Amino acid sequence: MQTTNQPIVLRLAIQKSGRLFESSVQLLRRCGIDLQNGTGKLKAAASNFPIEVYFLRDDDIPGYVADGVADLGIAGENVIYESGAAVEVVEKLGFGRCRLSIALPRDAGYSSPADLQGRRIATSYPRLLGDFLRQNGVQASIHPISGSVEIAPGIGLADAVCDLVSSGSTLFTNGLCEVTTILHSEAVLISRPELDADRLALLDKLLLRIRAVNAARRHKYILLNAPNDRIEDIAAILPGMKSPTVLPLATPGWSSLHSVVEEDRFWEIIEDLKALGAQGILVAPIEKMIV
Ligand code: ATP
Ligand code: ZN
Repeated sequence: MQTTNQPIVLRLAIQKSGRLFESSVQLLRRCGIDLQNGTGKLKAAASNFPIEVYFLRDDDIPGYVADGVADLGIAGENVIYESGAAVEVVEKLGFGRCRLSIALPRDAGYSSPADLQGRRIATSYPRLLGDFLRQNGVQASIHPISGSVEIAPGIGLADAVCDLVSSGSTLFTNGLCEVTTILHSEAVLISRPELDADRLALLDKLLLRIRAVNAARRHKYILLNAPNDRIEDIAAILPGMKSPTVLPLATPGWSSLHSVVEEDRFWEIIEDLKALGAQGILVAPIEKMIV
């Protein structure tokens, strides 16, 4: 028997285990999406949002989304661009940051991509490396290998590597030196190209939540006390979402200012705030931020 009026759900593919798993599940949780029957299975439904989450290897995610097996996916830009899959990048997610870099043995000289001419480069990213070499007019031989790329020069398999780096310690312990970065990557939300109107509307709802969560992470709520004759000067460097809230304190001649600042900017302006007479500065996290 054919069932009709099936509820419309978004099918979202995320990494089943590995570096992106925790942050992906945490993002959903912060978006108020509770996954039922745990995260150890192939898939899980949400109790309070029309979404079904599939747990897959990250390398399979772009293909499944392009083929329409899933509507959305979360994976690193490195994996998505290397796959060449026809998917749309909908939103950068701000976690899983790393870079795809070329590294050479420490004693090999390097001043420009031309120094890679004729070299053998081991990588798990033949497509991205090939694009980089072509754009720089360099001919080199690419050795695709699937894991432990960093040991290739040490065993004589290659003269250089092109691999993911975050701290650089793996390269260092293998006697390699990072010489140039070919891609800065972070986790992104992707979608299949032609979502129908119902799923697009659900994606909009999900995106509103994701943006609110991520904006909140980048901002802090700031409260401070200031003499009334300094309010104008302090307000000028504390723009907030509109302008700061000013509330009178019980002490005559003093007010409390409340505002929202980008976390990065906060450290820049703290000295200026103090110089302008701000006291009792409190900085608090923001749970959600809808601009
Ligand atoms: P899977 O079993 O799903 O195939 P994997 O071993 O290929 O997992 P992980 O090592 O879990 O993948 O990395 C997943 C993603 O995390 C990478 O594709 C990349 O986008 C990101 N990432 C962030 N920092 C690093 C890093 N230092 N090294 C490798 N990947 C990183
Ligand atoms: Zn993988």
